[in-house]
Amino acid sequence: IIASQLVVPDEINVSWKDIAGLDNLIQELRETVILPIQKRDLFADSRLTQPPKGVLLHGPPGCGKTLIAKATAKEANMSFINLDVSLLTDKWYGETQKLAAAVFSLAVKLQPCIVFIDEIESFLRTRTAHDHEATAMMKTQFMSLWDGLITDPSCTVIIMGATNRPQDLDKAIQRRMPATFHVPMPSETQRDRILRLILHAEPTAQDIDYKRLASCTEGFSGSDLHELCRQAAVYRVRDLARQEMKQDEQNKASQKSNHSDSEDEYVD
Ligand code: ATP
Repeated sequence: IIASQLVVPDEINVSWKDIAGLDNLIQELRETVILPIQKRDLFADSRLTQPPKGVLLHGPPGCGKTLIAKATAKEANMSFINLDVSLLTDKWYGETQKLAAAVFSLAVKLQPCIVFIDEIESFLRTRTAHDHEATAMMKTQFMSLWDGLITDPSCTVIIMGATNRPQDLDKAIQRRMPATFHVPMPSETQRDRILRLILHAEPTAQDIDYKRLASCTEGFSGSDLHELCRQAAVYRVRDLARQEMKQDEQNKASQKSNHSDSEDEYVD
């Protein structure tokens, strides 16, 4: 189950060039997360400069958190485990504790490795007195496995969580994620860049007014912009397909009428 969610660095199909408009954030991630991995010897020398073992990406849905996590793994040459939290929270699945232990042990074997947990708040939300006993145990076990990584200076495993509800995260989890990055809704300039990136290799008109498109897509996430371009492309292809169908029918009709004309000649 876990192996199916694992990608080795060579097979990660996302890099920084697939992400537009987030240059400052990428630069910060490079300095805070990637450089300490690439130059481990220097950073791991002192307890104070240890590479972070927890990174939190927070912001609205569809704004690039998953892309950023994958591109970080790619640049730092790390394996990437995309941990589906439903596996750990599904009470019918049973054996969730063994599974959590297996995830950490696999990550340690593969290190350097990023364990990415999307919607991390759904699993590690603030603890309450009403927590199901199994849920409470799961959280405690997860945190103690995580602490194992934190206290081992030679270990290069990062738990990278993504959430659009950071306020729901357990405080103890927030403390374990000292490197926190906000991935915002794109501004007008960022939408312009994202649209250019999505369309750069597409057969578009030469005179697309990106400025105007960016200004009238206020409130669109990167994912919404991608969907907008996809729909526009599909409409265009559908139009072309309809025109071709019409032309085919006209050709068939004229062939038919030529054919019946020649049959008439034969009868004569
Ligand atoms: P969710 O919270 O819903 O999981 P997310 O923040 O993880 O969303 P992604 O899955 O990384 O968002 O992005 C979804 C899609 O939106 C990407 O596959 C890409 O097509 C597009 N996208 C989002 N942000 C950007 C960006 N900054 N540059 C280029 N494409 C983007």
